[in-house]
Amino acid sequence: SSALLEVTDLRVDFHTRAGRVHAVDGVSFSVAAGETLAVLGESGSGKSVTAQAIMGILDSPPAEIVGGSVLLEGRDLLTLPAAQRRAARGSEIALVFQDSLSALNPVQPVARQIAELYRIHRGMGRSEAWRRAVEMMDRVRIPAAASRAHDYPHQFSGGMRQRIVIAMALALDPKVVIADEPTTALDVTVQAQILDLLAEQQRERDMGLILITHDLGVAAQVATNAVVMYAGRIVERSRVRDLFLDPVHPYSHGLVASIPRDLPRGSALPAIPGMPPSLTARPGGCQFHPRCPLAQPRCRTDEPPLLPVKDGRESACHFWTKVGER
Ligand code: SF4
Ligand code: MG
Repeated sequence: SSALLEVTDLRVDFHTRAGRVHAVDGVSFSVAAGETLAVLGESGSGKSVTAQAIMGILDSPPAEIVGGSVLLEGRDLLTLPAAQRRAARGSEIALVFQDSLSALNPVQPVARQIAELYRIHRGMGRSEAWRRAVEMMDRVRIPAAASRAHDYPHQFSGGMRQRIVIAMALALDPKVVIADEPTTALDVTVQAQILDLLAEQQRERDMGLILITHDLGVAAQVATNAVVMYAGRIVERSRVRDLFLDPVHPYSHGLVASIPRDLPRGSALPAIPGMPPSLTARPGGCQFHPRCPLAQPRCRTDEPPLLPVKDGRESACHFWTKVGER
């Protein structure tokens, strides 16, 4: 299947007092229609910055896109004139935010916020736009949508509010949706319902879905393919199933091994030892070497490129064949 969205060698720098640092350092992936790609990693790994760069909503300065391309059906979003870029946002590619309270306007009824999209992007009149907004609320299963349309965000539960955020993202029927930790703020049961909703809408609309998460369980519920990010780079590219059964990078192995088999999902995960490197203090060689149980002297100086290893999978590790041995 051909790619809807193709990100190639994306690079984002931050200008800090300590100088220029690489927040996203040569990230490439693609998503086809009907495909769900999980972008996995700890916080600070560059996942959200990648999403913001794709969406064109980076804070710049201090962030600056310094390289790469983001092709949406062949058009490079990074070089599109600002007006066309704005038009594409929402109607062709949309973002589901993590925090529904900050994604919604607190002083506007929810249906009005959805209706605004139809008025601005589709030139609909007031009543037509409102009707479509209520329809959209119904599609994301807000019970009694018509009677709740005039309510304000704070009058909804966290889960219902996240449904409204999803309704806004889907309102203009985008081809690609990026969901950045869409369920992190929710309890486990509601989390599963929201993921089901996203997966169902994705199938119905044949969208490309990019699911950004630190939670392997979330990825497993929705995604078929995954990239694992560490310190601004992709360190493994695999199908989700393969990632679980047989990770080909020590970092992924640590993530998988840290999943408690006997705890309900959403419980606090025992983290793998050590901290991800800060932006301003990247170690030389392999970025993971200070935490890696397989590290050799070579790893301190010699940066491993992301390369094909087996079964169409990729790993950025000199010693990937030793992962999971012991
Ligand atoms: Fe560990 Fe070395 Fe592989 Fe990096 S290259 S992940 S330090 S074994
Ligand atoms: Mg984030």
